[in-house]
Amino acid sequence: VTDIIAVFNAGSSTLKFSVFRHDDFSLIHNGTLEVPDSQDGHKKALQQALGWISAHKDGLKLHVAGHRVVHGKDRAKPEKITAKILTELKTLIPLAPLHQPHNLRVIEELAALHPELPQVACFDTAFHRTQPKLASMFALPRRFYDDGVKRYGFHGISYEYIASVLPKYAGDKAKSRVIVAHLGNGASLCAMKNLQSQATSMGFSTLDGLMMGTRCGTLDVGVPLYMQQHLNMTTDQVTDTLYHKSGLLGVSGISNDMRTLEQSDAPEAGEAIALFCHMAAQHCGSLMSILGGLDALVFTAGIGEHSARVRREICHYLTWAGLSFDETLNQKNATQIHAKGSKIAAYVIPTDEEIVIARACRMIS
Ligand code: ADP
Repeated sequence: VTDIIAVFNAGSSTLKFSVFRHDDFSLIHNGTLEVPDSQDGHKKALQQALGWISAHKDGLKLHVAGHRVVHGKDRAKPEKITAKILTELKTLIPLAPLHQPHNLRVIEELAALHPELPQVACFDTAFHRTQPKLASMFALPRRFYDDGVKRYGFHGISYEYIASVLPKYAGDKAKSRVIVAHLGNGASLCAMKNLQSQATSMGFSTLDGLMMGTRCGTLDVGVPLYMQQHLNMTTDQVTDTLYHKSGLLGVSGISNDMRTLEQSDAPEAGEAIALFCHMAAQHCGSLMSILGGLDALVFTAGIGEHSARVRREICHYLTWAGLSFDETLNQKNATQIHAKGSKIAAYVIPTDEEIVIARACRMIS
């Protein structure tokens, strides 16, 4: 019988489920389960996952479960889940209403089915807790900061993975001035020094920063005010527009999926991709001033790992800063895509959030 770690990443409509050996972290299974749109949708998906484990022919024993939890507020490290911590994490639901309830639902359902099983939460916000205070402040009246209205940053589990492997790819440069571009359905940039987060493009909510699949990214806050005050939109309609109808989908009017847009001849699709790259370059420039320059740029997640076009366009914007780019390497999705002699190195590194969670499970349980 093999001891295993199960890793769960619960979204509104899917439950990603991975299984690792406890002794050497080798991957046994990686899959995505659909969550039916019903009261007990997550419970059913979880039961399917547990069914997969118990039906496994070689005999698997679930040793510990790890979860991606989007919001951990000021927590800088993963935590073993207790009833007290679960209650605290529930109070963060208003800070991440689209993700946090699903993450916690799966933890609760699993605790009900297996009360003795150790469970560990890894937070998308935790990696950014090394940032200086200024990077987390809004220019709002002070009391809002004290009430938790500040920049938290997200995608930290992915950034932690990149930080853990970057020295292997970039040598000494890994510890200098680095920007990691996590470009998936959700997207953000993280500025690192010494492999620690210094600043990031996402802020209080998962709306800020880069343009995303269906989210708007940085937006003049006067726009949602105008929508409510003069376009007669309700709070729910504005929320739905900013989270679900904007970004690549909203600008193209075609799709939130970069692959579909790259294959389309419609001018709106081209414009959506161009705006995506324009905003990414703008935020890169902003983070470069915080870092005092740039030594390495890393592309990761679905778009970052696979879209040669997006990488080329973003890198092209950084020519002024001394990034010289090798299109042949880029087309091959090579690990290193800068040209010889480039002042800024550029890398393509696949992320692996699950292994970060699995490692945390073994450290903590
Ligand atoms: P999530 O944030 O849901 O984990 P992913 O990291 O899987 O998302 O990224 C999804 C995005 O990656 C989609 O926009 C998808 O179109 C894009 N993508 C995946 N493969 C390719 C590809 N070969 N070319 C361009 N874009 C791609």
